[in-house]
Amino acid sequence: MAITKTNFINYSRCPRYVALADLKKEKLKSMISLEEYRKEEEEEIIREVLGDMYDEAGNDLIDVRNEHLEVMMPYYGMVELLAGFLAPKYFSGTFKYSASTLAQESFDCVIDNIRYLCYVDIYNETDNAFNIIEAKATTTNKFLSLGVKDDGKFNSIFTKGSDGVYRLLEDAGLNVEDFMPLKKYEFNRSKLFNRFGEAGHYVYDLAVQRYILENDLKANGEVDKIPLIKYYLAVLNGDYVFDGKYEHGEPLYETDKNGNDIICFIDLTSVTKDYMDKIDLDRKRVAGYIDDLNGDEFPLGEYCEKKKTTCCKFCKVCWSKLPEINSIMAYLDGHHGFKDKEGRKYSRFELINDGYLSMLDVPESMLNREKNVIQRRVVETNKPYINVDKIRDGFKELKYPIYHLDFETFPCPLPRYKGEKCYTQSVFQFSLHIEREPGVCDKEKDHYGFLAPDHLDRREELVKLMCELIGDSGTVLVYNDSFEKTRLKELADIFPEYRNKLLKIRDNIFDLMNIVKTKTSLYESLGYDKKDAMMFNYYASSMNGSFSIKKILPIFSDLTYKGMEIGNGVEALVTYASFPKMDKLNFEHKYEKLVEYCKQDTWAMFVVLEGLKATVK
Ligand code: SF4
Repeated sequence: MAITKTNFINYSRCPRYVALADLKKEKLKSMISLEEYRKEEEEEIIREVLGDMYDEAGNDLIDVRNEHLEVMMPYYGMVELLAGFLAPKYFSGTFKYSASTLAQESFDCVIDNIRYLCYVDIYNETDNAFNIIEAKATTTNKFLSLGVKDDGKFNSIFTKGSDGVYRLLEDAGLNVEDFMPLKKYEFNRSKLFNRFGEAGHYVYDLAVQRYILENDLKANGEVDKIPLIKYYLAVLNGDYVFDGKYEHGEPLYETDKNGNDIICFIDLTSVTKDYMDKIDLDRKRVAGYIDDLNGDEFPLGEYCEKKKTTCCKFCKVCWSKLPEINSIMAYLDGHHGFKDKEGRKYSRFELINDGYLSMLDVPESMLNREKNVIQRRVVETNKPYINVDKIRDGFKELKYPIYHLDFETFPCPLPRYKGEKCYTQSVFQFSLHIEREPGVCDKEKDHYGFLAPDHLDRREELVKLMCELIGDSGTVLVYNDSFEKTRLKELADIFPEYRNKLLKIRDNIFDLMNIVKTKTSLYESLGYDKKDAMMFNYYASSMNGSFSIKKILPIFSDLTYKGMEIGNGVEALVTYASFPKMDKLNFEHKYEKLVEYCKQDTWAMFVVLEGLKATVK
């Protein structure tokens, strides 16, 4: 049996993963030979499990096409090539890298009859050894943000050396205590060892690589090389600003005016060394799981990575025991856990694995947050919670005309236009409904907008039209204001000619979510005490622990996103990203659907506002 690095990372999640992966691969065989290795009563369980993996028509529900990933793949591939291109500036020797995995350097080892193998993104051969460089389409921010703020100054646990490479303070020969207390340094460093954490996720990957490589060298009698090898991550530079130069129509990522390259290298040699014993234990666990192939239910945990992009692909199977709506996961702030009468704290996972699956399974005595008590009551009675006074007072903040505004953006890993950074949320569409007087707005006649028809830099056209349409007085109503406010500030910095107007629009923003979910500072300024100001203003059972507009809209209308050809932000992004590949007919059709989707977003705000008004009239 052979296991790649990616399989190793998944197989080591839990014993059930290996068994389910095997069961899925062997679907037909498993169904035929069930009696051979399963007791009769287990047969039904396996059928149920397979039922969650395939629908009635036999369509695969686990390995579904990830269109989001597909449109991002060319950019991820470019990150690897840019890292390979820039590596000689930071390292000496020869380099081997390729967009094709098969052309990359590879290592493998056999331990207890299992073969482990990995490919190296950038193999850098030096005089007496080599460096391993893994390219990741993430940014330096995840690593450099590990640190401590002191007297307004932030000190990271990483520092940039004279060679331009980032390394831990201790590895750079610096006295850690000159930067932060040792305890805080160790606490932040320990996050690199949390394989399910933001930065730790990438470090674990590199450590598995190191483990396979070292065992390969040991098997080939090259043990003396081991201490000479260094391990790096190549990641996107969070400070890099694209200057807008192109060659043959493609962005030219030269060093920016502040001296930043688009890729940074982080030396994780000492961290991955400290990881080796842990990886060896994980390897033994994986070997045991493969031997046992035990597909029995396994406690749910952090390793499922539910709701993360790295979510285990079998969540559909294992998490199906939780009700789809109003499960324990719908309790707001539930990640802080729950306490029993004796003050013993339980995590959500502990409760789930003890059989507390729905909101109502959790005894009221364990609900220590008032908001959770209200949520429970709402679900029990199926009657919404409404704080009439707070909602009415929120309305008083609105001034007419109301400009209902929404942006669609493309968070491209590589900046595409002048002034953008890596993963800038590049605005390609805005939708605007103008409500000139209270309740007076027509879905079609009062709708305006802009949608970039291609991938050329259309930002100025978009900004110009938006500035012409939105007046200086009135309220600019958005849903979840930090997103729109940040985009407007970024555009103001890029287009000085429109700066004042864009900042004016930003100043006039009011967040409709404040009226639904509350905003403590707003309601405190309106005279509410802190406790009242913090409590949400509206909650209905169907919201399922979420204040997203898509959850709130159906409460006030029969409008729905279900059935729309483009029905969520990811589909919008994927459609825009695919424009250049579409033929004329398909493009025109998708363009229209995208306009329709964005129009629905701002119309939804008008409808929700009207609905709330009617509710507290
Ligand atoms: S969803 Fe969780 S319990 Fe199920 S296989 Fe994945 S990691 Fe294991």
